[in-house]
Amino acid sequence: MKPLNKIWLDGKIVSRDKAHFLNFHQGLNYGGCVYEGIRLYQTAIGPAIFRLPEHVDRFFYSASTLRMKISLDKDEFAQAIKEVARKNKMKSGYLRPIAFYSEPKMGINILNAEVTLAIFAWPWKEKKEEKKVTMKIVKYRRLDPDTVDLRAKIAGYYVNGILGFIEAREDGFDEPLFLDKKGYVAEGAVNNIFVIKGNSLYTPLEKNILTGVTRKTVMAIGPDLKLKVYEKNFRPEFLRNADEIFLTGTGIELERVMEISECYSQKQTTKSVLTEVLNYYRKITRGEVRKYKHWLTPIF
Ligand code: PMP
Repeated sequence: MKPLNKIWLDGKIVSRDKAHFLNFHQGLNYGGCVYEGIRLYQTAIGPAIFRLPEHVDRFFYSASTLRMKISLDKDEFAQAIKEVARKNKMKSGYLRPIAFYSEPKMGINILNAEVTLAIFAWPWKEKKEEKKVTMKIVKYRRLDPDTVDLRAKIAGYYVNGILGFIEAREDGFDEPLFLDKKGYVAEGAVNNIFVIKGNSLYTPLEKNILTGVTRKTVMAIGPDLKLKVYEKNFRPEFLRNADEIFLTGTGIELERVMEISECYSQKQTTKSVLTEVLNYYRKITRGEVRKYKHWLTPIF
């Protein structure tokens, strides 16, 4: 059943076909939409996508949780992402594939509904300097793995992130930090968290977070810098005596946390482990570390 032809749009009654960009679809109404965020870097071997197969796998996994049929197979999808980068003549930037239930359909029954797949691209300004943020531990708890499949990157989940973000911003912080239902530190709205103590890196267990590709990368490369990496449950008290804290995400790469409400404030650091990890991460993503060249997929 399709909606009737006349709709109200920004103060006027117009025909629905005038607003074809705004179809009444289940992706918009119920959050039935999945997406990925992917970086393209300028590297020694030309423009190349960082960890493309991991992003493709996560995208297909996300779609499968919503029983969404993607019209391409994984290889065709990866080719389409590369084509978008080539057609936009990108040397570096950000790519965002998105799939959503796009039928103008009422009700929550998405099974067998039509899916639209699109891939967008953005330029991305490469920053040399380190980005710094403050965080507030917000009152909203992270979505629970008993409620949703947190391994999937589903648009509807981000309402939780938005609510936390509003609270953090209105209280004068940059970003929210979410605890899980039991009070353990989980993650930010769109990023994972790492705590540095001496030569050890600690990050929350996979159960209550989206397992970021950047998180996995940092865990894999840590030992190269003689860092021990631990996945563990910890409460906000654990942050009090941290040497450094940082966030990870495809877009932000690694971002320094300067302050966390009521439990952490960055001390003056003479030797920064974070800077060392960030520099190494940047070298790897720019194709300067031979050992990890297989993480880069050239677009040509
Ligand atoms: N957690 C959430 C909720 C996210 O949206 C993201 C961004 N995709 C991350 C963590 C970091 O994931 P990644 O390193 O794969 O970008």
